[in-house]
Amino acid sequence: MARTFCIAIALLLCAAGAVVGEDSCSSSGSTVAVAPTDSVVEVRLVFVSFPDYAQQNLPTWADSLKNEFNAFIQSMSHGKQRFNISILTDPANSGKAWVANSNYINYSGQYGKLNREVMFRIKDAYSNPFSGVEELIIYHYRCAFPSAGCPGWGGVATLNITNAAADSVGFSGTGSTCRLLESGSINSAANKKYVFFNTGHEYGHNITINHSPNTFSPPCSSEDPNPYYVNMGLYGA
Ligand SMILES: [Zn+2]
Repeated sequence: MARTFCIAIALLLCAAGAVVGEDSCSSSGSTVAVAPTDSVVEVRLVFVSFPDYAQQNLPTWADSLKNEFNAFIQSMSHGKQRFNISILTDPANSGKAWVANSNYINYSGQYGKLNREVMFRIKDAYSNPFSGVEELIIYHYRCAFPSAGCPGWGGVATLNITNAAADSVGFSGTGSTCRLLESGSINSAANKKYVFFNTGHEYGHNITINHSPNTFSPPCSSEDPNPYYVNMGLYGA
């Protein structure tokens, strides 16, 4: 069981930066708007559900995720980096996630198309919502990654939108796409833990920090090519 479990978990956790056609677990190569040396990073979180999905509220842990992610980075940076972080919700549906225009299956793995759609809706709902935003993390309630990434990927260190689309919505930052587990409630402790891990992991890639050497996932061995940890101790240089 251990070996199978290990592989499954490693795959779940380490598709970081793995856009199809790129090396897995490397940074995305997109514009880097944040750096380990930034003392305050403007971060926005966005949650996205789907019309045919029963769970459309924000997770009950959304606020604590925000605060704990900030605390994590402050700890990892030895106090040299912190976040100004908030959740961008749909003003027409307070307390709920954004609901995509279509069911997840219709995006055919084009998660960037989904991100783009939601970012345009955010732009229409707010006045300059992305002004000054350096890091945008979009969470999908179902796996909208390509089939090779479902259920294997927990996140990727890119929003996978074009520069033209980013310009159109006034976004000049970088970002990640993460997903929730589809088993059980979105509010479960397991889901929060999964999302928290991937959020920190992909953010580490966004600021160009790669996996820390030899941080293999116990009880996996060094045969496992997928390290768990990024952003270890390299802030504030
Ligand atoms: Zn990674």
